[in-house]
Amino acid sequence: MKLTTKIFIGLALGALVGLGLHLAAPDLFTTLDAYVFSPLGTVFLNLIKMLVVPIVFFSITLGTASLGDPKKLGRIGGKTIAFFLVTTTIAISIAISLAYLFQPGNIDIDTAGAEYESKEAPGVVETFTNIIPTNPIQSMTDGNMLQIIAFAIFIGFALAMLGKKTEGIYKLVEQGNEIMMFLVNLIMRFAPYGAFGLLASAIGTMGIDGMQAMGMYMFVVILGLFIHALVTYGSAVSFLGKMSPVKFFKGFFPAMTVGFSTSSSSSTLPVSMKTAQENLNVPKPVSSFVQPLGATINMDGTAIMQGVATIFIAQVYGTDLSFASLIMVVLTAVLASIGTAGVPGVGLIMLAMVLNQVSLPVEGIALIIGIDRLLDMTRTALNITGDAACAVVVAESERKHDVDQEAQRMQA
Ligand code: ASP
Repeated sequence: MKLTTKIFIGLALGALVGLGLHLAAPDLFTTLDAYVFSPLGTVFLNLIKMLVVPIVFFSITLGTASLGDPKKLGRIGGKTIAFFLVTTTIAISIAISLAYLFQPGNIDIDTAGAEYESKEAPGVVETFTNIIPTNPIQSMTDGNMLQIIAFAIFIGFALAMLGKKTEGIYKLVEQGNEIMMFLVNLIMRFAPYGAFGLLASAIGTMGIDGMQAMGMYMFVVILGLFIHALVTYGSAVSFLGKMSPVKFFKGFFPAMTVGFSTSSSSSTLPVSMKTAQENLNVPKPVSSFVQPLGATINMDGTAIMQGVATIFIAQVYGTDLSFASLIMVVLTAVLASIGTAGVPGVGLIMLAMVLNQVSLPVEGIALIIGIDRLLDMTRTALNITGDAACAVVVAESERKHDVDQEAQRMQA
């Protein structure tokens, strides 16, 4: 049986068992969750999380070093960031339009007891200056992805410039990367069981009662995720990436199931890189550069949730947002999704930043927190798909660039 099929069965069984126990035997669920489901999920999560920091370091260093020429690095970096910004803006626009169309917040819901304490989000300037680590070892201990990426780009650049002189270290990084990829393959064999545990635990805890009241909100978010995947990514990979969307989604599906079960782009990174390299033919240097960066700053699914949630909260509290406020929502949601770390639930915390910006009550978050777990899973699957779509597009445009250069050389 193929691994994807197994993971799928794990997810389905997990959902069934979780829901069944939630309805029929809640006490038994609590015990099983404590001793079976949660531990299974945690072991799987820990296994892949264990690889994240070394994989980001090795692969970005290697990616940068093998791109070699700084011009090429700049070009790929530019294209990647442009793709991320454009698709995230499209994502929020889709979300806001759908929220106005379906009016999920026009419901009778009691906001009296809603309490939510928002955490202080760092300022924009600080976020940028903090990208450069003062102590790279500390960044690795803290798992600060942007700082690790920055450090790895510097080391990769130096390796490329020093060439023969640092051949030894280059080889070391290359072999380190091999080891990580080998381990990803090994750990993935455990994925069906991990997926089962994670889903049984999530669905069993959540149940369906909460979902009913929030049905319309959930529907709009999930619809937005689907539209963005099929229309935005579908057309990007087919027009810009010259790949059939069917091949793209089918090839990347295994990684999406892992993103769905873990709710974490950064934990899924090892799997999403392997999947893009093997099933979507993305060359290693491009995948190694685009995907870790994307897993850290490109969160279209999160942006969609934030867009729908903002309009939802405005509707619940009966606030009309002006056009200028809507533009503000788009801008801050782009920033908020960039600032969202690729770990479970952070998107909701960053939503406070968007709400503050347009003076909506942050307490509104309390209304959607209960059902966020399931949406977190779904949006994470989309978040990593956006990075893969970008990798496919950048890979194709680099291929074209190389062919054009070759043709020019032949002419000269
Ligand atoms: N869990 C999401 C991710 O890792 C982030 C979020 O929206 O909370 O991609």
